[in-house]
This record gives sequence, structure tokens and C-alpha cells, in this order.
Amino acid sequence: MCKKCSDPTHVVSPPAIGRRGLLAAGATLAATPLFAGAAAAQTPDGTAGTNVAATTARAWGAASKTSPIGPIEIKRRAVGPNDVQLQILYCGICHSDIHMVESDWGPSPYPIVPGHEIIGRVTAVGAKVTKFRVGDIGGVGCMVNSCGRCVECLNDREHACLNGMTLTYASPDAQSGGFTFGGYSTSMVVTDHFVVRIPPGVNLAGMAPVLCAGITTFSPLQHWKAVRGQKIGVIGLGGLGHMAVKLAVAKGADVTVFTTSPGKRADAVRMGAKEAVLWDDAESMKRLAASFDLIVAATPQAFNVQPFMDLLKTDATLVNVGALEELPGYNAMRNNTARRNLSGSMIGGIAETQEVVDYCAARGITADIELIRPDQINEAFARMKGKDIKFRFVIDMSAA
Ligand SMILES: [Zn+2]
Ligand SMILES: [Zn+2]
Repeated sequence: MCKKCSDPTHVVSPPAIGRRGLLAAGATLAATPLFAGAAAAQTPDGTAGTNVAATTARAWGAASKTSPIGPIEIKRRAVGPNDVQLQILYCGICHSDIHMVESDWGPSPYPIVPGHEIIGRVTAVGAKVTKFRVGDIGGVGCMVNSCGRCVECLNDREHACLNGMTLTYASPDAQSGGFTFGGYSTSMVVTDHFVVRIPPGVNLAGMAPVLCAGITTFSPLQHWKAVRGQKIGVIGLGGLGHMAVKLAVAKGADVTVFTTSPGKRADAVRMGAKEAVLWDDAESMKRLAASFDLIVAATPQAFNVQPFMDLLKTDATLVNVGALEELPGYNAMRNNTARRNLSGSMIGGIAETQEVVDYCAARGITADIELIRPDQINEAFARMKGKDIKFRFVIDMSAA
């Protein structure tokens, strides 16, 4: 409602300032199809665009939930006024890529091209883009668009957009029709707001997983205000978990890792954890009862939650970021007595994603990765299912 005239029918748009203003502008343009070839690079106000037409990209995708990942060709839209075109250099393999390819969370659209831990070199920008120049390095995480107008978007929580964010892959694509294709490909075109800046001098392959695994674990540490001296637990030492350990250690926390893999205990300590406890070590679980300020659960499958809830201090929180199924075992009697909290968190907004990239760049934090070629993706999936990975596969797209 307009505060000046008090007319309830007179709606005043939020002030178009700074980052949110850019977002609002991007969302307005997003409603205009930007995909119809070179002509689309013309801006609505008549300004000349970059005149980069739609392109064909090489990609690696699956034709069905039982198909292996193989090479396919996909279309990338023309570069619109607010778009950035990236030549993809590296793309991390997130465990959710496997869940999506195999339709574990409901039927996925096929063909599916996964990948949402993307690092690329800017090869073209639209006429209205000021955030990037050709030659810059940009990163793309789990989403490539949102409405830009709802209360969540206006408060830097695009991932919680009330009108639904557009996921980087397998999401209905309002701009080009069909479904979005992810980073297992040689190039992509993304609205500039959803591309984060990658500072110079960083290890680009090691930074790729920060775009999903990094923000997913950084956001809860920020929200629950992890500080020096707190006791923080991390359940699962995989792609997400190892980033959680590195980030919590950087915050100065006293970190304990809970793993099912005896072979990962030494890795946890190398990353700065004080100790690594096996889930079935009943004696240690008893010793650690009621001692944690925060526990981040970073295991990709459902797990019995109560043994870990019992480790929380009064009023402390277990935040689940990995499993997206029902978590069994919650015992209200035991949690209510100590007012323990069970919560969840999923990725983070674009501003916070930029923050974690900058945080990691400033401290030399990267993921521990194994670099592979695109023709090794199926093997990587199989090894991830067998927990045979330390700690993130990253695809080298220059080997495409
Ligand atoms: Zn992910
Ligand atoms: Zn929104």
C-alpha cells in the first residue's frame, strides 16, 4: 500500500536499489522470452545487445532413469540483455545428481543433464550486464532464476522463492521452454544475478564444490551463529560433510565428526576435527551426550536421528542438510525434556553464496577433489554409491 496517499489499491514497488534492484530488473526481463536467436539480444528499450545467438553445447546426460550418462547435444539460449554466457571449465558431482538421474525424489524429466557446482569463463555478456566482463570467472550453483519480487527473493533468499526457484537442471525453464540443463556441459547461459564472482588466484576445480556443498554447510553455520569455542558435530564425511568440517574449523569451533567409515577418521583429523567417532561406538556416543552446541547432519540418506539428538545440549540444534527423506527415530520425550531442536536447511541465497565463495577464497579453503574426464562420470557415480570417494569428484570440462 502506498504510504503517501494511503490508498490500499495503490501498490508501490520496492525501491530498485543495489543488488535487490538488479534482481527485480532481472526478474522483469525474465518474463520476456530471451531465447529466440540473435534478435533476442536486443533489449526491450532498444539498446543493442551482444548479438550472441543461441548455441549448441556438448553435454553429458541420461536418457532415462536406468540409462548411463552419455554424450548428447543441447541448446543454449541466445545471450539476452541480462545474461552471462559461460564456457564451463569445471563441474562438481553432487550426490543429488545421482538421486535426480535415478528419479529417487519423484520422476525426473529426461534427458537430464546434471551439474550444479559450475565454474566457467565468461565468453559473452548481455548489454545490461555490469557485474561481469568477458574473461572473468563466474560460478553457478543450484539455481538459475527466481521471481525476484516475493518477500523471500527481496530478502536474499532466492532459494526459498515463494513462486519457486528455477533449479540449474531438470527444472521447468520459463526462458527457453522445456527443462533446464546443468553443468555437465561445455557452456551455459545464465541470468547475471545467479552467477557469483570467483576471485582471482583461487584453485578453480577445488572451488567448484563450494557452489553447492560449500553454501549448503556454510548457511547453517551462519544462521546458528557458529563461533569460536563452540562444540560442533558433523554427521557424515562426504562431499557436504568435509566442507562442513573445514568451514566449522575455520570458524574456530571444536569439531567432532561422526562417520561410518573407519578409513575416514584420519582425514577428519587432517581437516582440523578434534576427533572422529564411528556411529556404532556406543561408549563414545555416551561420553559425548548433551555436549554439542550444533550438529550438522550431512549424510545423503535418511538416518536414525535420536542417537545424535541425544548429543545436543539444552536448546541446541541438529540441522539436517543432506537427507531429503523422512528421518526416523525422533523421540519427543527425550527431546522435549532438553528443548532440543531438529531443523533443516537447503543451500542458501545468492548473496550468501557469494559470501561463502569469498570466505573460502580469503582462507584458501577448497574441497578435496578427484578430477575426472566426462567419460568417467558413470564410474564416479558407482564409486560414490560405494562411498569410495575422497571427497568430491569434479569433471574437467577441458577434457571434453
Ligand atoms: Zn548439490
Ligand atoms: Zn521469489
